[in-house]
Amino acid sequence: MESKVYFTKELEKLAALVEDLAKSFKEREVAIKLHFGEAYPTYHIRPEIAKVIVDKLKELGFKPFLFDTNVAYSRGGRQNTEGHIKTAKANGFDFCEIRIGEEGEIVKTKGKLKEVEISKDLVEVPNMIVLSHFKGHWCASFGGAIKNLGMGAAMKNEKKREHTIGKPKFSEENCTGCGTCAELCPTSAIKLNEKATVDYSKCIGCGVCVRYCPNNALTSENYVTNMLVEVTSGVLSTFNPENIFYINVLEKISKLCDCNPRSEIICPDIGILASKDIVAIEKASVDLINEKVGKNLFKDVNRIDPMEQITAAQELGLGSKEYEIV
Ligand code: SF4
Ligand code: SF4
Repeated sequence: MESKVYFTKELEKLAALVEDLAKSFKEREVAIKLHFGEAYPTYHIRPEIAKVIVDKLKELGFKPFLFDTNVAYSRGGRQNTEGHIKTAKANGFDFCEIRIGEEGEIVKTKGKLKEVEISKDLVEVPNMIVLSHFKGHWCASFGGAIKNLGMGAAMKNEKKREHTIGKPKFSEENCTGCGTCAELCPTSAIKLNEKATVDYSKCIGCGVCVRYCPNNALTSENYVTNMLVEVTSGVLSTFNPENIFYINVLEKISKLCDCNPRSEIICPDIGILASKDIVAIEKASVDLINEKVGKNLFKDVNRIDPMEQITAAQELGLGSKEYEIV
């Protein structure tokens, strides 16, 4: 059966969608999971959008709070709760309670990892809206709702694992020195003499070289895309599907993620999508973007097919690729 994905360009209609989709929520508390942007200029969710959602939820009698977890990297100010809240307020998110998840809880996942540590706050809250700025991502092709949960709900140790799981092992014996990996590596971590050499201090574990090496000279245990999907399955296992929905904002669609200051806009604004199905909303977002620019955009710019993440999510039973736009 096709899942419904709602589309609008107007904030008033977004408020009406929130009212409709929140009808099945139980109890009062609602986490709005989002990325607040950084202390340096990057592309992220407009605070006006989060405010429309918060105002509507309050009007309906809910108790919303804006939520994220601290990051594992050292740039910017979001490594600790005080700096994280300061950054969020400076970026315009000063109209609602902000909670930063500091304490973790182990949850079961579907797939190879079996269990991961995610924020305890999300395990305990009854309802959640996953509000995501939809954009490209070096290691995952694109970042939408799955990335928002798969990385953004994970505790620091899992975030570190996600950033190393795709780092390749190199077999000198198999390498023919063709140069494909050095040409495609987004961080110039591979140099070529007669054979390739990987500078692991520059490697971000995107797995592009692993995917494209014609001789299996570069291999990795897993891809970041798969781990994001698995962590997301762990988060979703703690929710009744009726008590969660997703909003993807297709504005300022950038090549790289919301933490990267070197990103650039790669697609004109499209609008806002909402759905109860995380796989359907991701697929609809990718399809609308590809339609807008006339090519498989994220594969083109980040070398990883966006369908990899979407198919993995469907295979883990997180939702359906079949959708209708309403
Ligand atoms: S793509 Fe593979 S075979 Fe070609 S240089 Fe890189 S590691 Fe060697
Ligand atoms: S995993 Fe990505 S960043 Fe690391 S060497 Fe391969 S292509 Fe470069």
